[in-house]
Amino acid sequence: MAVAAESQQEEKSPSKASAVERRWTLNDFDIGMPLGRGKFGHVYLAREKRSNHIVALKVLFKSQLKQSQVEHQLRREVEIQSHLRHLNILRLYGYFYDQTRVYLILEYAAKGEVYKELQKCKYFSERRTATYISSLAQALIYLHGKHVIHRDIKPENLLIGIQGELKIADFGWSVHTFNRRRTMCGTLDYLPPEMVESVEHDASVDIWSLGILCYEFLYGAPPFEAKEHSDTYRRIVKVDLKYPLKPIVSPGAKDLISQMLVKDSSQRLPLHKLLEHPWIVQNADPAGVYRG
Ligand code: ATP
Ligand code: MG
Repeated sequence: MAVAAESQQEEKSPSKASAVERRWTLNDFDIGMPLGRGKFGHVYLAREKRSNHIVALKVLFKSQLKQSQVEHQLRREVEIQSHLRHLNILRLYGYFYDQTRVYLILEYAAKGEVYKELQKCKYFSERRTATYISSLAQALIYLHGKHVIHRDIKPENLLIGIQGELKIADFGWSVHTFNRRRTMCGTLDYLPPEMVESVEHDASVDIWSLGILCYEFLYGAPPFEAKEHSDTYRRIVKVDLKYPLKPIVSPGAKDLISQMLVKDSSQRLPLHKLLEHPWIVQNADPAGVYRG
């Protein structure tokens, strides 16, 4: 993919410099239909003129980024996402900016948002849910292996690719624990156990979120929903997990959810074990695609 090889991060390598030395500008793209609106700007379908590669171009207004003080968060998002290569993680090919705007060159997810699909269907079948959860677990194993924790897994942040494959988008809340570890290096000897362990434990927040997501896919609403925030909070802390009678969900699915939604983060089902869970093995499409 021409666009892929030319991301700004890869330019710095001197050996590749002549081949990929390149700054993107708006002139490199034909702009097509709007795909959606975000908090800080708009997303358009676009085509890179030289390669004809179709992308999603996310246009963010600098003034709004400044006003909301999220420039730092955006920088981190770009830094993390541009280095990731996984079928189930939305690619960020590169970025550029002009006086007023920042542009992100993103992989185009042709089938749109999981959130909208869920609204349309109310809830997903066990096959569809297992396929999505399995894909996500694989993407999270890859992420955690790179010391990245997503921390914001939810239907709004998931897109669907042309084959029906799930893509994690939106790395706005993700963190790179490796950086933190590295900066701690000198003082590691003095760290108390809970801080040493916290790096490993942090990744298990994504397992919890995956459990919530699995429940929401199958039942159409998240498990600890309540009218008041304070009640949701109370239910989360107690892990007040109830399975409604309808829609009918198999015992295997409930067993998996119960193993992910565990209060003690060290006791949550590790992601590689999730992939071996009988309900996943029996229901997930091995190719990770759901075609309806
Ligand atoms: P933010 O992520 O800044 O909080 P947001 O989630 O509301 O904002 P964006 O992620 O900017 O919105 O995207 C807006 C909409 O554009 C999405 O909801 C989605 O429908 C569409 N969209 C965004 N990125 C893509 C993409 N890569 N492929 C296809 N559609 C996309
Ligand atoms: Mg978003």
